[in-house]
Amino acid sequence: MDLKLNLDELVTLRHHLHAHAEVANQEEKTAKIIVDFLEKYNADHIWKNVGGHGVIALFKGKEDGQSIGFRADLDALHIEETIHLEYESKTPHVSHKCGHDGHMTMVAGVASYLKQYALKRGNVYLIFQPAEETGEGAERINKGLKALDIQLDYLFGLHNLPAFPKGEIVSKKGTFAAASRGMVVKIFGKTSHAAEPEFGISPVLAMAKISTEITHIHRTIDFSDLTLATVIHSELGEIAFGTSPGYGEIRVTLRAMRDEDMSFLIDEAENLVHKYCEDDGLGCEISYTEVFPATINSEESFDIMQQAATGIDLNFKELITPFKWSEDFGQYKLQYKTGFFGVGAGDDCPHLHDEFYDFPDSIIESGVQMYAGLMKYFDLID
Ligand SMILES: [Zn+2]
Ligand SMILES: [Zn+2]
Repeated sequence: MDLKLNLDELVTLRHHLHAHAEVANQEEKTAKIIVDFLEKYNADHIWKNVGGHGVIALFKGKEDGQSIGFRADLDALHIEETIHLEYESKTPHVSHKCGHDGHMTMVAGVASYLKQYALKRGNVYLIFQPAEETGEGAERINKGLKALDIQLDYLFGLHNLPAFPKGEIVSKKGTFAAASRGMVVKIFGKTSHAAEPEFGISPVLAMAKISTEITHIHRTIDFSDLTLATVIHSELGEIAFGTSPGYGEIRVTLRAMRDEDMSFLIDEAENLVHKYCEDDGLGCEISYTEVFPATINSEESFDIMQQAATGIDLNFKELITPFKWSEDFGQYKLQYKTGFFGVGAGDDCPHLHDEFYDFPDSIIESGVQMYAGLMKYFDLID
């Protein structure tokens, strides 16, 4: 497919976004850069500050047709930029190490594409979502889209994929990326003199038992697919050798390839916590944060993506094993039909969230092409 895209302009945009990296919920400047870019491209409407710093642009075709959305993520990470780039991050201790600067550029590229190849039918919504890394943004954009009464026949999203050939489109039927959530367990006992632990209630043994059993939960329970419970943090008492502790916390990341397994895993993990706390007369409180549902493609959405890619001669690869990381895109399937795919970032590209990672500009075109392929599939462009 001959795109005639102004790639230089898109590369400049990517570098500009990279230099002004902002973490989740602080993406003010990033959103402004996106709005300034979109304003040059005759969007029919631009909504700002949707679900935080989210931006949505609408392009309308001349005739009636289907409405489809393309979603990009705005946020960077709390990772220091240690590589020297002409466009290196100006924000201390923050940089784009997940490639969301590239994802935004690919979706913005659709605006530039539509300037040259006018939309014939239907509606295209370019959705720039804040706070992906914390799992908050997709849910807020869902609410925002509902409040604006925006109906979508399909919503698509992508992530760049290091270790896959550059520009290759990768997708999978069923689970693409895992469900995950952060479990916070607070355990309440009673302090006492360290010489008289019998007068207090220390959470120490319950915490040890919970940590051990929760780590092995996937071995003891029959789940339908891979699950993982990873203890990521714990703290107990104070650094005071005269005091037996009366309070402790454990934080665990729960992960499952299927939403049903996640529900089961939550029940089992909570049962363990309650059992060991009750055995020792401890109180406990359980809460959750950073909740990511599984990112799942239906057979239909997989077929659409495969046909869209091959229809414009992009290399398409069907993935067999899902990714163990999570994407908050999974949230959108609760409201719309969705499709999620990857774009290969090259064998030489460092891993996501690695301090040496930098989104490869050479794959911008493949992302925009795939979006164009999808518009073509839905008969929105010729
Ligand atoms: Zn990330
Ligand atoms: Zn990411």
